[in-house]
Amino acid sequence: MAPPLPSAAKVVIIGGGIAGASVAYHLTKFGWNDVVVLEQNQLAGGTTWHAAGLVGRLRTSNSLTKINKYSVELYSSLEKETGHPTGWKQVGSLIVAKSRDRMTQLQRTVAIAELMGVETHLLGPVETKQKWPLLRTNDILGAVWLPHDGKVIPQEVAAALTKGARSRGAKVCEGVRVLDIEQCQGRVCSVVTAQGRIQAEYVVIAAGIWARELGLRCGVTIPLYPVEHHYVVTEPIPGAFDELPVGRDPDLCLYFRGEGNALMLGAFQSFSKPWAVEPVPDDFSFKLLEPDWEKFAQPLANGKHRIPALATAKFAKFVNGPESFTPDNNFIIGEAPGLQNLFVLAGFNSVGIASAGGAGNYLAQWMIQGQQTVDLWSVDIRRFGPWANNRTFLRERVPEVLGLHYQMAWPNREFETGRGLRRSPLHDRLAAAGACFGARNGWERPNWFACDGIKPIVEYSFGRQNWFACHAAEHRATREDVAIFDQTAFSKYVFKGRDAVTVLQRLCGNNVDVPLGRAVYTGLFNNRGAFESDLTVIRVAPAEFYIVSGTSQTLRDLDWITRNIQPAEHAELVDVTNAYSVIGVMGPKSRSLLGRVADTDLSNSAFPFLTAQIISVGMATARAVRITYVGELGWELHVPMDQAALVYETLMAAGQDLSVRNAGHYAINSLRLEKGYRAWGAELSPDDSPLEAGLGFAIDWSKPFLGREALRKQQQGGLRRCLVVFVLEDPEPMLWGSEPIYRNSEPVGYTTSGAYGHSVGGAVAMGYVTNAQAVDRDFILSGRYEIGIAGRHYPAKAWLRPPYDPHRKRILA
Ligand SMILES: Cc1cc2nc3c(=O)[nH]c(=O)nc-3n(C[C@H](O)[C@H](O)[C@H](O)COP(=O)(O)OP(=O)(O)OC[C@H]3O[C@@H](n4cnc5c(N)ncnc54)[C@H](O)[C@@H]3O)c2cc1C
Repeated sequence: MAPPLPSAAKVVIIGGGIAGASVAYHLTKFGWNDVVVLEQNQLAGGTTWHAAGLVGRLRTSNSLTKINKYSVELYSSLEKETGHPTGWKQVGSLIVAKSRDRMTQLQRTVAIAELMGVETHLLGPVETKQKWPLLRTNDILGAVWLPHDGKVIPQEVAAALTKGARSRGAKVCEGVRVLDIEQCQGRVCSVVTAQGRIQAEYVVIAAGIWARELGLRCGVTIPLYPVEHHYVVTEPIPGAFDELPVGRDPDLCLYFRGEGNALMLGAFQSFSKPWAVEPVPDDFSFKLLEPDWEKFAQPLANGKHRIPALATAKFAKFVNGPESFTPDNNFIIGEAPGLQNLFVLAGFNSVGIASAGGAGNYLAQWMIQGQQTVDLWSVDIRRFGPWANNRTFLRERVPEVLGLHYQMAWPNREFETGRGLRRSPLHDRLAAAGACFGARNGWERPNWFACDGIKPIVEYSFGRQNWFACHAAEHRATREDVAIFDQTAFSKYVFKGRDAVTVLQRLCGNNVDVPLGRAVYTGLFNNRGAFESDLTVIRVAPAEFYIVSGTSQTLRDLDWITRNIQPAEHAELVDVTNAYSVIGVMGPKSRSLLGRVADTDLSNSAFPFLTAQIISVGMATARAVRITYVGELGWELHVPMDQAALVYETLMAAGQDLSVRNAGHYAINSLRLEKGYRAWGAELSPDDSPLEAGLGFAIDWSKPFLGREALRKQQQGGLRRCLVVFVLEDPEPMLWGSEPIYRNSEPVGYTTSGAYGHSVGGAVAMGYVTNAQAVDRDFILSGRYEIGIAGRHYPAKAWLRPPYDPHRKRILA
């Protein structure tokens, strides 16, 4: 019998799919037993019941792999623990490669998998055939074999998780639909159902394709949209058996596995169809959409090619199931910014079975400990602003996202759909000047500018891409002359109030109680002493700061700083990102250029490094900050949006004889890598400390700050990992990030970012070098290093200081 609906609970979880079940399982496992799961229909009746049940461990990043690895460990032991069979079979998985590029991608995958603790093997066509005898292998170059992957019966996993949660006190109520989520003073306080209200300290939205709608009701951005995902199951086929490995042929957009003595064939077509229904019907339970054989015609033809036995097969089942997709193919986890204690776990992009075990674990830890326990930035809810929740945008974007699973994972790949959402006032001018744009946090940012007859369209490859020469020219112009960068997408805030200094001093590792007009680079840390963000803080008045951080950090910083203002403190953070453009004037001739249009003494004594002043730029007025992320003399001009075009035109007109030119974000990346400047999301994350990142110089130990104790402990205990800059000795190859690093032939880490350093004459990258005993200067510098690129090892020189530094004096003078 269903338990009666309680009037209050510590946690209410909305949704009884695999995600909600996993959160309930883990919360109760960690001791939070007053948990209620509300399911509008029947458990697992949403998307979970019809999933294909593939559970792979390897993902695109270390943290996502950690999540999936946990799922595999959990699912393989869940039956023993709960007594409920989950159908777990460790059948292993195969990814085959038809094209040379795909093989390169698989070789890159194998190299990095080892570092993430996932066993992989490269197989030739003959060994591949041995693993999957029904496969056509005469046109493949090889495959990757992952022996620990497996499959489950998704509905049964959800049932086992729920059983585990129930056994520890959770209540699971089916047939209860949440109509509304209520808040009291910025905190979630209850849910309203058709059967009554339940007061709750915490609410978790784990409502699959219904999650966006629930979010809209309480002002929370959950950008996801249902997309049709198709697979078929055959009638019995000779030679098919249940223990066949899970197979994937990304070149043909296919996955396949044994299903009893039949086969399952599924597709991630390069473009799929959104399920254009609004709202999603609340009685859509244990239901499917109509079979779409037309859309499945190409995958079926491909399937018949890859598995010839399919040519004469009959089909017992066509599954057309809606699944929620997000704008970037990563799921959404975390506490909603602006609504305390409202957590979200949704938007699984067709890998929800493989991810839910680990994701539920880390979400439960996050709720109980009040902060992330591992780096979850790539799936963090705060990466999406309200711009991402537009319905028309989502409908345009998500069909491309489904296909992404099997598209080539090209370096620098950009989405083709749903573009142009956020544009700087300079956008059209830069487009006319040949800009090739990339999108970050919805902003269109110039990545590079077309030159020498090259079209501003990226031709993807793992080697040098078509923009190499244009990038080189921009890079050199910044080192030798002067370049203009549109950095409007930076996050910007005003922080003011009587207690503004007190709050910032508590949150920042560096001292920000500085004279007016000073700019300070600082990290924000959690109580583990790891990064929550890094930013530049400019004091503009005794109780007012202008704060600048990276493009993707807008909501994250807003949330972190705001939630750390204590109730009695008087201080407010306002996001002014959309009010100001940022125009970077960078290079040794930047002083000459700016001097022609500014009415200010720009000499080093009158305008020193790391200071800011309000200046005139021709007829416009800007806040000029003397700072650099490219390692050259330069100023960032923070200009009200309405005057950005004027400032740009003024600078361009004044700088013609100084060879001024546009430069893009690819140049920023290579320039900053040569100078050893770290980037949030690459070198800096909630898994990294400033000591490991080599940023100890930006800490003021003489004052208390959040994370100080943990950092002191780390300092005393010694480091086990350390960020290093590498330059390849061979000037030819490219580095993009995610390449393995070898020290004396042993794997010790992987690159966090990479680019071609035109000033150092070779590819340059950063990465953490790890050693279980200890890592110090001697350990780093005494090693012989190589970086692995698609299976080949290339000698590299390790640097603890910037590999390019002849102009240090020039930046500071
Ligand atoms: C065809 C297909 C094949 C797939 N194959 C795989 C695979 O092989 N491997 C893999 O990892 N993933 C796969 N997936 C993806 C996987 O099925 C999903 O990611 C996963 O099931 C999502 O789980 P969920 O709990 O988030 O959502 P759901 O299972 O949809 O659960 C959400 C629940 O919330 C309930 N709910 C919604 N609103 C309310 C409300 N207001 N009040 C109360 N309850 C509410 C719903 O009724 C529903 O039961 C596949 C998906 C499809 C479509």
